[in-house]
Amino acid sequence: MTVTKIEEAGNTTPPEQLLADRGRRPEGSVVDVGGVRIGGREVIVIAGPCAVESREQINETARAVKRSGARMLRGGAFKPRTAPYSFQGLKHEGLQLLSQAKHKTGLPVVTEVMDTREVEAVCEHADVLQIGTRNMQSFELLQEVGRAAKPVLLKRGMSATIKELLYAAEYILKQGNQDVILCERGIRTFETATRNTLDLNAVPMLQRLTHLPVVVDPSHGTGKWWMVPIMAKGAVAVGADGLLVEVHNCPEEALSDGDQSLRPDRFEAMMRDLRGVALAVGREIASATQESLKEVVEAQPAYSNA
Ligand code: PEP
Ligand code: MN
Repeated sequence: MTVTKIEEAGNTTPPEQLLADRGRRPEGSVVDVGGVRIGGREVIVIAGPCAVESREQINETARAVKRSGARMLRGGAFKPRTAPYSFQGLKHEGLQLLSQAKHKTGLPVVTEVMDTREVEAVCEHADVLQIGTRNMQSFELLQEVGRAAKPVLLKRGMSATIKELLYAAEYILKQGNQDVILCERGIRTFETATRNTLDLNAVPMLQRLTHLPVVVDPSHGTGKWWMVPIMAKGAVAVGADGLLVEVHNCPEEALSDGDQSLRPDRFEAMMRDLRGVALAVGREIASATQESLKEVVEAQPAYSNA
């Protein structure tokens, strides 16, 4: 009986070196999401609304971010809201709408999963499973996504240390899923002027400690749309492998996180600025698509005919 109990509890002897340890892969890991590689030379920008709200909203936003060079689409279908009276997301209908937006734009989709019972359904539509800050230590959920065949974007708990984030990643890796992307999204401090304190220290520290790619979310990290492009530049400068940015086709009408969501034109401007920063640190960011160049030319016939 005792043996059975120990077996059920699983292997709890820590390895000499954690699976996440940089020493296991000094060159760093690259997570491949349908051909989009996070952890290589390219800084991957993942953009889209906080929550999927309607077909029109997700399609318009997806088209806009793709035009500006985003390589993946984000959007929450299951929303972990602080108050139970706030918009909770379109849930399964939201997943369907994300799939449609993916098929229209070709952008892989990142979306949150909050419950072990929904992992299978979310896997049918998502290319990357997001674990939100509030669930960074939901150990059953971590283990369930650790058994899934989809990459995981693991957000740092709002009061979690770097060590706790790495142990959370370890729960996923230990189940066999090696495709884990870490996300710094701001931590809770005594400061109230910003929604969170974006801990850019975490980027070089994580890159020293682990081989896993690190992305930064300047939207939740600041809570203010006008700070997002500024802190995004900082994140690229300190070596982030990617950015997670909230963009809404009409932020004033957003059902969640409108204050920290960029309008598409501001996202476009941010992307232009980021390319220079990326070049300065030996990285690159995808160019605006041909479609966008064509639209610019069509909007300015005097130039195209010149
Ligand atoms: C989100 O990405 O919209 C989100 C809910 O993020 P976090 O878990 O970091 O608050
Ligand atoms: Mn949000």
